Amino acid sequence: MSDRYAVFGNPVGHSRSPRIHSLFAAQTGQDIRYEAILAPVDGFAAAVAAFVAVGGRGANVTVPFKEEAFRLATELTPRARSAGAVNTLGFECGAILGDNTDGAGLVRDLAANLGIDLRGRRTLILGAGGAARGVIDPLLESGVSVLTIANRTAGRAADLAAGFPGTTASGFAELAGRCFDLVINATSAGLSDAELPLPAGLFAEGAVAYEMLYGRNTPFMAQARNAGAVVADGLGMLVEQAAEAFYVWRGVRPDTGPVLAELRRA
Ligand code: NDP
Repeated sequence: MSDRYAVFGNPVGHSRSPRIHSLFAAQTGQDIRYEAILAPVDGFAAAVAAFVAVGGRGANVTVPFKEEAFRLATELTPRARSAGAVNTLGFECGAILGDNTDGAGLVRDLAANLGIDLRGRRTLILGAGGAARGVIDPLLESGVSVLTIANRTAGRAADLAAGFPGTTASGFAELAGRCFDLVINATSAGLSDAELPLPAGLFAEGAVAYEMLYGRNTPFMAQARNAGAVVADGLGMLVEQAAEAFYVWRGVRPDTGPVLAELRRA
């Protein structure tokens, strides 16, 4: 019988994880079955327990359960601890291992797929939610020089920066007069087509603008394009975080290039 994996979310119908993992499994010859499970907002732990009871080996976790998955895990990897959130669970011998592969996925997309040398890059993260938190340590470890976190609610950026030596916090208004080589949009503003109040001159010459959202052309992407920046969306991050989770579960690293190309075609 195939080993069972799943993604838990609410909503989850739109998730591309089942497609990605079935492509990984076909490519690597791993015998797995991967499904999407809609957990009730107040029933995540029960849904996970039911999945483990029928032999589930591992799971991905998406909105809104990443913090709850962090609390549910009985063991945490250092990167999950630093992110304060879990997107990958492994079930073995009664333990629940919590990991977070989002940050590794972003850095790998930037470095391997987009060919960006992160060393010495003046970097700005927009947003101070779970996605922002999860990518801070991997970016610092990749050698970015400046790492500034700017958020609509400036106090949240300050709280976040306080937990990560080497970062500084800012409101959007205080960004005036500053410029960056890499600007990562980790806000969810694009979901509602909201434009961010970014000051002129924010994107340095040759800057890269990375929108974590995927599947839509957001106002942030348009703003960055108009300012002459190279623009990327978050589909590569999605595929890379999935590949990292696949590696955690199966010990085999899939070749992400063909899978990313297939998703872009679709
Ligand atoms: P959270 O809800 O935790 O945080 C949302 C953030 O967006 C907050 O900082 C919030 O600011 C800010 N925000 C929301 N609306 C606006 C607005 N109109 N203007 C300015 N700021 C705004 O979300 P997550 O951190 O979990 O996710 C953020 C984004 O990253 C999502 O769009 C998600 O889809 C994407 N993502 C992509 C991944 C991938 O693999 N490609 C992986 C993980 C996330 P405030 O504090 O002021 O409310």
